[in-house]
Amino acid sequence: MNRVYNFSAGPSMLPLPVLEKAASELICYQDTGMSVMEMSHRSPAYDKIIKDAEAAFRRLMNIPDNYKVLFLQGGASTQFAAVPLNLMKSGKADYVITGQFSKKAYKEAQKYGDVRLVASSEDKNNTYIPKLTKEDFRPDADYVHICFNNTIYGTKWNYIPDTGDIPLVADMSSCIMSEPVDVSKFGVIYAGAQKNMAPAGLTVVIVREDLLGNSRPETPTMLDWKTMADNDSMYNTPPCWCIYIAKLVYEWALDLGGLEEMKKYNEKKCAVLYDYLDSQSYYIAPAEKEARSMMNVTFVTGDPELDKKFAAEAGASGFKNVKGHRSVGGMRASIYNAMPIEGVEKLVEFMKNFAENNPKEN
Ligand SMILES: *Cc1c(COP(=O)(O)O)cnc(C)c1O
Repeated sequence: MNRVYNFSAGPSMLPLPVLEKAASELICYQDTGMSVMEMSHRSPAYDKIIKDAEAAFRRLMNIPDNYKVLFLQGGASTQFAAVPLNLMKSGKADYVITGQFSKKAYKEAQKYGDVRLVASSEDKNNTYIPKLTKEDFRPDADYVHICFNNTIYGTKWNYIPDTGDIPLVADMSSCIMSEPVDVSKFGVIYAGAQKNMAPAGLTVVIVREDLLGNSRPETPTMLDWKTMADNDSMYNTPPCWCIYIAKLVYEWALDLGGLEEMKKYNEKKCAVLYDYLDSQSYYIAPAEKEARSMMNVTFVTGDPELDKKFAAEAGASGFKNVKGHRSVGGMRASIYNAMPIEGVEKLVEFMKNFAENNPKEN
């Protein structure tokens, strides 16, 4: 069977060269006589894999030396608790809600202290990103939390809010590696790997060193970033296979020219969809133009029955998983790094044909 164009929001497409490389090494990794899945995480061969993974990721993301990179388990959702546990030393934190994941993070943090909602875009169904200045944040907050790309709504912060000296924490699960980011502007960046990095099971945390060591006393050992930093992510068994695939993905991105090149390609790719959406009136793109995501493109026909038909027919034509998140409906094309531009061009062709063949009642 041929591979389809997979627009899944996550787990999502991986680069074909990465899958091919992994397949070629699946049964016997180099001269070890075993699969990466079967080897001790303390073995020299694996030690090299995890070190190479971190080195490639640091190069790719241009991570300053005073930041630690942690390879963890538990998904981005576990970090919703780990963030307050590690950072809320005086018991105050500021949150911005721009979608469901940031709302979950906000709710989780409330278990641990005085959590203030600075702004929310829920009043307009999370179709925009609030404009915030330093004065919006409490000067004595331990940190400010945002979700940089809102996977479900297809919006993205097009600026990094100025929080002054307050550490900015960002969930970048669905936009990490899609373009360069100035890591030094953040205290912590975290991301579940299954959107743009690796298979599900790996969560990456980038944390500024001076923020380590302040965890609350009740912090489970496994959620304490310092435990993980002190043990090079090997306090316990890390998600070995996922880290190996992540390494291949990082190396693939570096080979393509790094994140500057990735950004150019992603801009070109999402423009194919957005230019089409802006040129017609059959489909509506709910996200505000200046808040549009490069990675998750959302659109609706305005008729839930037609949306359903669209997703079903698209799936039958080889465009898989274009149905919107179950909570919002409509359509969503997730076009992460691994999606080739041909996939997006062909999807637009399909959209044109669908619009022609399914005229609206009025
Ligand atoms: C997918 C996603 C999550 C949830 O990730 P899990 O790894 O399933 O916990 C959190 N935040 C964002 C922005 C996401 O896209």
